[in-house]
Amino acid sequence: MKAIRRFTVRPLLPEPLRPLSDLARNLRWSWHAETRELFQSVDPERWAVSAGDPIRLLGSVRPARLAELAEDRRFLRRLSAAADDLHDYVTGDRWYQTHEGSAELPSAVAYFSPEFGITAALPQYSGGLGILAGDHLKAASDLGVPLIGVGLLYRHGYFRQTLSRDGWQQEHYPVLDPNELPLTLLKEDDGTPAQVSLALPGGRRLRARVWLAQVGRVPLLLLDSDVEENALGERGVTDRLYGGGSEHRLLQEMLLGIGGVRAVRTYCRLTGHAPPEVFHTNEGHAGFLGLERIAELCDQGLDFDSGLESVRAGTVFTTHTPVPAGIDRFDRELVARHFGQDAELPRMDVGRILNLGMETYPGGEPNLFNMAVMGLRLAQRANGVSLLHGQVSREMFAGLWPGFDADEVPITSVTNGVHAPTWVAPEVLRLGARQVGAQRTEDALSVGGSDRWDSVADIPDQDIWDLRRNLREQLVLEVRDRLRASWRQRGAGTAELGWIDGVLDPDVLTIGFARRVPSYKRLTLMLQDRDRLMDLLLHPERPIQIVVAGKAHPADDGGKRLVQELVRFADDPRVRHRIVFLPDYGMAMAQKLYPGCDIWLNNPLRPLEACGTSGMKAALNGCLNLSVLDGWWDEWFQPDFGWAIPTADGAATDADRRDAIEAAALYDLLEQRVTPRFYERGRHGLPDRWIEMVRQTLTLLGPKVLAGRMVREYVERLYAPAARAHRSLHPDAARDLAAWKAKVRGAWHGVTVDHVETSAATLTAELGTTLALRVRLTLGDLTPDDVEVQAVSGRVDTEDRITDATTVPLKPVGGPDLEGRWVYEGPLSLDRTGPYGYTVRILPSHPLLASAAELGLVAGPSEELGEGAGVLLR
Ligand SMILES: *Cc1c(COP(=O)(O)O)cnc(C)c1O
Repeated sequence: MKAIRRFTVRPLLPEPLRPLSDLARNLRWSWHAETRELFQSVDPERWAVSAGDPIRLLGSVRPARLAELAEDRRFLRRLSAAADDLHDYVTGDRWYQTHEGSAELPSAVAYFSPEFGITAALPQYSGGLGILAGDHLKAASDLGVPLIGVGLLYRHGYFRQTLSRDGWQQEHYPVLDPNELPLTLLKEDDGTPAQVSLALPGGRRLRARVWLAQVGRVPLLLLDSDVEENALGERGVTDRLYGGGSEHRLLQEMLLGIGGVRAVRTYCRLTGHAPPEVFHTNEGHAGFLGLERIAELCDQGLDFDSGLESVRAGTVFTTHTPVPAGIDRFDRELVARHFGQDAELPRMDVGRILNLGMETYPGGEPNLFNMAVMGLRLAQRANGVSLLHGQVSREMFAGLWPGFDADEVPITSVTNGVHAPTWVAPEVLRLGARQVGAQRTEDALSVGGSDRWDSVADIPDQDIWDLRRNLREQLVLEVRDRLRASWRQRGAGTAELGWIDGVLDPDVLTIGFARRVPSYKRLTLMLQDRDRLMDLLLHPERPIQIVVAGKAHPADDGGKRLVQELVRFADDPRVRHRIVFLPDYGMAMAQKLYPGCDIWLNNPLRPLEACGTSGMKAALNGCLNLSVLDGWWDEWFQPDFGWAIPTADGAATDADRRDAIEAAALYDLLEQRVTPRFYERGRHGLPDRWIEMVRQTLTLLGPKVLAGRMVREYVERLYAPAARAHRSLHPDAARDLAAWKAKVRGAWHGVTVDHVETSAATLTAELGTTLALRVRLTLGDLTPDDVEVQAVSGRVDTEDRITDATTVPLKPVGGPDLEGRWVYEGPLSLDRTGPYGYTVRILPSHPLLASAAELGLVAGPSEELGEGAGVLLR
């Protein structure tokens, strides 16, 4: 029988146990092992069936057991200690509060993301982007950074993956009842649910309520459109993550960006929380937040351009993908329909909105509205997520700053990190605690600090090796359980499944490969030469075993074919004890997988992996990385602690050939380097050299890969400057800056470099010589206060392009002559031998610009003048 209505009956905890409810509602339990142990001791059996979710546990414990615990003095003492600890954690001063100049730091930062991976108990993520957002919130909480997270609450989350008998991915969308999740509803003072509302074309409205997840010190606001006041279509806007067509996506993103700002305002009004001075958008999906904030300022009397300046100053945009398919682009028409008179932001000029998302570079699509492009235009500060990705992003978006070299494009990088307390296995933490104490281990993992990890060197080899085996064995058991469940689901009877007891071996070198399945991650690269792989798996002395997992996007049949190919290979009775595919990759599985593997494999098509974070989580557990030099591995790889798979990128190699070359390199490494090192035994019967690599992984990579390090960088390099810039741009300053930009843009055609001369006009010169440079130029309606004139010099390539440029500002000497020309002078030091060149350029200059390229305006010598100006010294 099917129920017609569904309620959640919340347990009534006896008075002495009330603190359990607070502990369950603050998601800090998800990274605090002691709190989880407390919940486990409430009822170990039910804890196991509730999949480690305290809310589910408390909903299922028998009242008799609760009554018993309410009398249990020892339990109550532990409970009160845990509650005190949480209280101290949430209220005490942390890194941010004691940071030098903390009064200057932003009073609050709003962090927007389409997905958040905080715990398996709140499944609101699809992969790396969401996990990163979750780790960002947790690290911010540990550091005391006053962040407010903003996202959507998806009724079905992403999807659950199972397999058909023949290995085809099946998607399931179980309904999540927010009342059964670790959430509370944000309410007005009169007790009614707080709501935000958006105007849609045709007089429709999209309303959403706001759920609050408490992530340690950080509130996370999740907007949910499934409210009775909405029409059926609008109720479904937050139905699932990355599902539906274009219009559906647009509505989700409008709700996230515009509704998200309104939710933040409501939250601050109701709780007295300081309003954010900085808004950070994790990928372009939330970009509309900038429009809503401009609209707010326009309501306070500012014009669009001045509002834009003020909003830009306080906005940080993080781009996460060099893959064009990863960027949202909408039909201009569709966007146009959802803004203006009859829809959202009615007082704003729709043309201005559309221009913000216009692809104004060569090859740009005139009819599309690009969310990343808008993100860059609405944020004065932008970054990629690893050094290499920063460089790739500068090249990818260089067209938005015509006239500038890619390395001057104002996109920096902050390399991702991972939240160690979430991802480090309790066994590893215990070893750390034994070595340096629990508090120091906790501090080193959450706040970070580069010198704390040396004590790893003192851990005896035997302890490291015992730990590795223990973790591997736990993984083996976990894999068998999951595989059994998967085969039952695929229709196998128990009698057929005896072989699963022999799947994987706790003493065999274990390789993990788990991630989403977009084509660039090359799930099936390992299958390029099946015979060679089979030999590796079945090697009589030095076998390997492989655990694979990953979800393909529901609309990606290509990805599903890759999954099927892998599953079919792993189903082969000859190898099925050595390679497994586990369905439904998610956080719970990941937390077992990384610690249990010896090698974490990553073989994306370089440079398409913006950063990658699973290898970092593996490293923190002493698992070694074997990876293509892409993302973070390109930056931090050292042969002391891992292996780099050589790549065939750059050269004009076709895709198939490239796969073949890189797969062959992978097999070579496994056969010749990795397996011998794992199986060789030293004097005490231990693989000394392997253990040394584990140790180096922990000491050298450990402090770098932390989310604490990442969030500290965001605070110091992006949030703090953004807050300062935003404060400088009070309404009058914003108006002045907007007016100045308009003046400069209007007058720029009159800015020219007319004549350049040097003290020596020879084609050769000696190292150490300083030449005097003299430039005549016209500024039209501008004055020297509006510009900077620079000499740019450096080594030149065969096409006379200056490679490693140095810039030196030139100074005006004397006022304008009768024709309105200015003369600028300065020294040019010839500090390098070999082919050398220089040029001169004029840039707009204003103290409130964050980068010289900000306006995308530059004037240099004309072509004819170029000959004379760029005298080459060879
Ligand atoms: C870390 C993580 C990811 C991201 O891994 P990448 O290496 O960036 O692909 C995806 N899914 C889960 C469950 C994770 O824990």
